[in-house]
Amino acid sequence: MSERERFDLVVIGAGPGGYEAAFEASRLGMTVALIEKEALGGTCLNHGCIPTKSLLHAADLYDEMKRADRFGIHANAVTYDLKAMKERKDDVVLALRDGIAATAKQKKVTVLTGVGVIEGPHTVRVGDEEIEARFILIATGSRAFVPPIPGADLPGVVTSDGLLEQTEPCRRLVIIGGGVIGVEFASLYSRLGAEVTVMEALPRVLSNMDSELSQSLKMQLKKRGVRVLTSARVEEIRRTEEGLTVLYEEKGIRSEQGADRVLIAVGRRPYTEGLFGEHTERPAAERGRILTDEYGRTSVPSLYACGDVTGGVMLAHAAAAEGRNAAAHMRWVLDRERAAGGNREEGAADADSLPESALRTEEELKRSLIDTSVVPSCVYTSPEIASVGLTAAQAKEQGIRTVTKKYVMTANGRTVLSGGERGFIRLVCAGEDGRLLGAQLFCGRAADIAGELADAVVNGLTAGDLGRVIRPHPTFCEAVTEAARS
Ligand code: FAD
Ligand code: AMP
Repeated sequence: MSERERFDLVVIGAGPGGYEAAFEASRLGMTVALIEKEALGGTCLNHGCIPTKSLLHAADLYDEMKRADRFGIHANAVTYDLKAMKERKDDVVLALRDGIAATAKQKKVTVLTGVGVIEGPHTVRVGDEEIEARFILIATGSRAFVPPIPGADLPGVVTSDGLLEQTEPCRRLVIIGGGVIGVEFASLYSRLGAEVTVMEALPRVLSNMDSELSQSLKMQLKKRGVRVLTSARVEEIRRTEEGLTVLYEEKGIRSEQGADRVLIAVGRRPYTEGLFGEHTERPAAERGRILTDEYGRTSVPSLYACGDVTGGVMLAHAAAAEGRNAAAHMRWVLDRERAAGGNREEGAADADSLPESALRTEEELKRSLIDTSVVPSCVYTSPEIASVGLTAAQAKEQGIRTVTKKYVMTANGRTVLSGGERGFIRLVCAGEDGRLLGAQLFCGRAADIAGELADAVVNGLTAGDLGRVIRPHPTFCEAVTEAARS
C-alpha cells in the first residue's frame, strides 16, 4: 500500500480536538491523515469561538466609543456597519484557517476533504478512497439542537450559525436559552443597539455556573437594556405582519414578544451523522455522546474520540486537551506494539526493547498527559465571566469544607481607570489546608486570569501560595493577591 493510504492515525473532523490531536501525533512521530468535510478549524474557528469573539470585540469597541465622553473623548456620530464587521470577522477566520493549513503542511499531516465514513476498525472511506489506519480518532464535534417548538423552522428563526452570517442589523432579537451562547449574543446585539429579550426555561441564566455569577450577569444585562426572563418556556413562534412573535409562559402566565429575528440557543448535541458504515461496529454511546476513558479510548479498541462528540464540557480547549492526550496514548501503544514485533497486545513488550524516546511506564504516561479535570469556563460578556474548578456549593455537595475569599473590584485601580463595572474575584479554598479548589470571576480580563487560577488548582497551590506572588500594578489580576490575602 502507498504511504497515502496507510497511516498510524486517521482523524475525522478538523476542529480544535481533531487538528490538535493530528499535530500532536505528528510531533510524536506518527503518520497522520486529517479528514474534514467543511473547513479546517471546525465549529470553533468557523462558527463558534473566533467569529463570536471577533464580533463581540467590534461591538465592545463601538459601545466604548459611544461612551467615550467620560474619558474626555468626544466621538460624535459613531456608527457601525454590520456587513463590514462580518467581513472583518471572515478575514480573521481565514487568516487563522490558513495558519492551520500551514501547520498541517509543516507537520506533514495529510489533509483530505470530504465526509469520513468508518467502514471498519481500521478503515475510513472518503468518497471513493479507502484509507487504512492503526487508529481512528473521532473528532466530529457537535451541532446546535433545535427543539420541537412549533415555528422553529420559520424564516428569521436561526441558530448561532445563522446569526453569525447576518449582515442586516436587527431591531428586536429574542434569544431562546440563557446559556453561554445565548448571553454572549445578548451582549453583542444589545451593544449594537437592538432590543434584546432572553428567555430561559430555568430559574436563572448560566444555570451551570455559580449563582452569584448568574445574578451579577443578569443585573449587568438588565442595565444594558436587555430583558432577561427566567423560568420562561417558549411554546411557539408565529409569523406576523411585522415579523415574528414568540409565545411563552413565564411563571404560569402566557405572554408574547415580537421580534425580527429569533435565536435558538438551547444547547448542542454530539454529531455523528453518516459517520459509521452500515456494517461497522459502533462504539458505546449514551444519548448520542461517544463514551471514552481517560485516554480517549472508546469501547472499540482502535477507535478513540475527543471533544464535543464525547459530550461533557463542550469547549474548544477541552477538545484540544483530550485530542492531545489521545495522541499520547496511541504513541504509547504503538511503541509497545513495535517493540513486541507487531503484537497488538498493549504492554506486550518489555521495557528494554522500547525505543529510547518511549515512556517506560503507564505512570509516566499519565504524568505526561494534560489534566482534563479542571476546565476553565469563560463567558465573553462585559465584564467577562470565568469559572475554574469547584464552586462553594459544589464543594459542599461533595462534603468538602471550604473557606471562600472574595475581593470586590471597586478598589482595583485598573478597573476604576478603565471605567469598569462592579465585579469580583472569589477563591474557593479547602478548609483543611487552604488548597485552591476553584474560583469565580466577574471582572475585566477574567478569562485570562482564569488561566493562572486553573494552574493553581491543578498544581495544588494554596491561598497562601497565591498571596506570596507579586503581581504587576495596575492590573486586574492584582485582585487575586487581594483575595488570597483577605
Ligand atoms: P468541532 O469544532 O465541532 O469540529 C468538528 C469538525 O468535524 C467540523 O469541522 C465538522 O465539519 C467535521 N466533521 C463532522 N463529521 C465529519 C465527517 N464524518 N467527516 C469529516 N468531517 C466531519 N468554546 C470555547 O472554548 N470558547 C468559546 O469562546 C466558544 N464559543 C463558542 C461560540 C459558539 C457560537 C459556539 C457554537 C461554540 C463555541 N464554543 C466555544 C465551543 C467550541 O466551538 C467547541 O467546543 C469546539 O469547537 C469543539 O471542538 P471539536 O474539535 O470537538 O469539534
Ligand atoms: P447551554 O446548554 O449552556 O447552551 O444552555 C442552553 C439553555 O437553554 C439552558 O439553560 C436551557 O435551560 C435553556 N432552554 C432549553 N430549552 C428551552 C426553552 N424551550 N425555552 C427557554 N430556554 C430553554
